[in-house]
Amino acid sequence: MSDVLIIGAGGVGNVVTKKCAMNPDVFGKITLASRTLSKCDTIAQGCAKMGLSHVNTAKVDADDARQVAALIEKVQPKLVINVALPYQDLPIMDACLNTGVHYLDTANYEPKEVAKFEYSWQWAYRERYEKAGIMALLGCGFDPGVTQVFTAYANKHHFSEMHYLDIIDCNAGDHGKAFATNFNPEINIREITQPGRYWENGEWVEIPAMSIHKPISYPGIGPKESYVLYHEELESLVKNFPTLKRARFWMTFGEAYITHLNVLQNVGMTSIVPVKFQGMDIVPLEFLKAVLPEPGTLGENYTGETSIGCQIKGLGKRGEETTYYVWNNCKHQDAWREVQAQGVSYTTGVPATIGAMLLLTHSDWMKPGVWNCEELNPDPFMELLNQHGLPWNEAVNVALPHEYPTSP
Ligand code: NDP
Repeated sequence: MSDVLIIGAGGVGNVVTKKCAMNPDVFGKITLASRTLSKCDTIAQGCAKMGLSHVNTAKVDADDARQVAALIEKVQPKLVINVALPYQDLPIMDACLNTGVHYLDTANYEPKEVAKFEYSWQWAYRERYEKAGIMALLGCGFDPGVTQVFTAYANKHHFSEMHYLDIIDCNAGDHGKAFATNFNPEINIREITQPGRYWENGEWVEIPAMSIHKPISYPGIGPKESYVLYHEELESLVKNFPTLKRARFWMTFGEAYITHLNVLQNVGMTSIVPVKFQGMDIVPLEFLKAVLPEPGTLGENYTGETSIGCQIKGLGKRGEETTYYVWNNCKHQDAWREVQAQGVSYTTGVPATIGAMLLLTHSDWMKPGVWNCEELNPDPFMELLNQHGLPWNEAVNVALPHEYPTSP
């Protein structure tokens, strides 16, 4: 059994805390810390009501590496699970380095002042983590996270060379609100208002935001309009699987969502440049976040399901042309029943818990240094997905969407 410190008491923090508490054979003392102590206490009380392991709580400002290090010294965890915001990745990584504790997160670092996310900042810790004998597992949610495990699994078991990868992410859920984001609104809106980007023939192709779209049919759901976005796992996937000729990420958005987003953008509410308001500097996007529903509160009336998977084409183990599709569907209401969360928090929190379990118990998943999920053995992760609430399906040599060239 190993003690863990979880930082961040939002939608994902709720799922990770409950899932850790449901697995007392792996996780010993659990401490949940966040900026707002009352949110930690509510989650801890939720665990108590479910009859789960006791959860300790603490207040921390994770923008401050010294505060995090002091908390680590006090709690003495073996691993810190960071499910706060991407802005806190580096201070928490610094604190782990200074105290010799393993680190895991679900989203890559993003500086507050620039809407730009990339791995360079976190990969720069590789040597220092290696020397300290500690491990950082980056981006261990669903996407990033499981999408890379899916791709590594496909590569290991079905392909000699992967050529075309399309990650497709559908949320066919309805939370009954006019407009809300499924994870932190600030991070979500920063992500989707940036130019789109995909990998083709050895370089990044940049496109205006949301400019490439078409209906894609999702299992059990049917066709949904899907948009090409830049998503962080593409950066490590094309590096770790250099045979990929093209790699893209698609996400569904409903018409009402896009209309709201367009209006908010047109009136300047998604800007991260501070404006003066009644003598104070305020960032419009931060203000918008304050008036939108918190992702953790969407669960109770959420219906429908998510479907996220990887569609891959390339050469099979014997050099034959091969197509492969691997995916998970997750129902919002099942997530609510199990841990009082909506499906997007659930599909992020369960993989983070599985990554933590493997890091703490499986020799293939304990390597000093800084790692992305596709760099480790996918098999035990795939097995645990089936056991902990995110069962997956696969189809080999099926017709994939029509956009693939017939001869790669
Ligand atoms: P929420 O906004 O619901 O929760 C974020 C939590 O972090 C809040 O409790 C917040 O505290 C806390 N926090 C913010 N700043 C600090 C700080 N300086 N110090 C301590 N705590 C802080 O977001 P989600 O739970 O939806 O998302 C959590 C993370 O998961 C995000 O990084 C998101 O990008 C990532 N994610 C990853 C996905 C994947 O598939 N890989 C998918 C979805 C999300 P307070 O309550 O006081 O604001």
